[in-house]
Amino acid sequence: MPITVFLNGQWIAAEQAKISVFDRGFLFADGIYEVVPVYQQRPFLLVEHLARLQRSLSALQINAPDNSFWQAVISELLERNGLADALVYIQVTRGAEANRSHLAGADLQPTLFASISPLPVHWHQPKPVAVTLFDDIRWLRCDIKSTSLLANIMLKQQAHQAGYSEPLLQRDGWITEGASCNFFGVRNGIIYTAPKDHLILPGISRDHVIQLAQQLGLEVREQAFAVTDLAELDELFLTSSSREVQPVGRIDDMIIADGQCGPLTAQLVTAYHASKRTLCEIS
Ligand code: PLP
Repeated sequence: MPITVFLNGQWIAAEQAKISVFDRGFLFADGIYEVVPVYQQRPFLLVEHLARLQRSLSALQINAPDNSFWQAVISELLERNGLADALVYIQVTRGAEANRSHLAGADLQPTLFASISPLPVHWHQPKPVAVTLFDDIRWLRCDIKSTSLLANIMLKQQAHQAGYSEPLLQRDGWITEGASCNFFGVRNGIIYTAPKDHLILPGISRDHVIQLAQQLGLEVREQAFAVTDLAELDELFLTSSSREVQPVGRIDDMIIADGQCGPLTAQLVTAYHASKRTLCEIS
């Protein structure tokens, strides 16, 4: 089905959507984005996603419309496209200007774009994947959901070429996250995940999983996990809006949880599915 997208106040067919070659998003990756999962036409954790969108915008000092504007755009996007399960993408750049300077003019109009694509939803236990340890070569503001994703793309490409689902990134001997997901490790019944600082993207599903774990009475420590301790992991999983809770069965040659989905991970997968039903009011 052809997709209708939102671009700068207009609703148009996806193939018709065009922006200027002088757009600063194209020239300098001077922009941010946000991804909101939708289940049965209902956005999941929308307030949290829009709060992160506003944080990214204010970090870049881009003046874009407020949350009520984006809520209306998302509603109309869902209505016009009729997709039940989907990912909504919002992209905002600082705007276009022919003067090709790093320093932008003061009166630029930001470019506002929203699109949607189908999301294959899994309600079952996902199969464990393999990851490979790489140096985290990204910049030091990974907390901003910037469209500048070159390092993430290079790392993902290298991992895929070597037959792995995702790179597991380490900086100075500490696990940060994946190229497009957050890291969770389980050791002796305690769940570890990197703290929310400038070295990781504060994943919305990360926060949600922490809440779910706490509701289940599980202990979560937002504390960096050392590469030298990886061999002691009982379980490992990744989180993101599109992958939800993704068990990992292997890091390079190191088998985790006998290559299976560990028991705490399985509990969280089930809790995540249940929360999709509850929060999106799916019967
Ligand atoms: N970390 C990185 C680097 C990401 O790109 C993403 C998602 O794209 C995540 C973590 C997970 O974020 P969320 O749970 O909000 O999808």
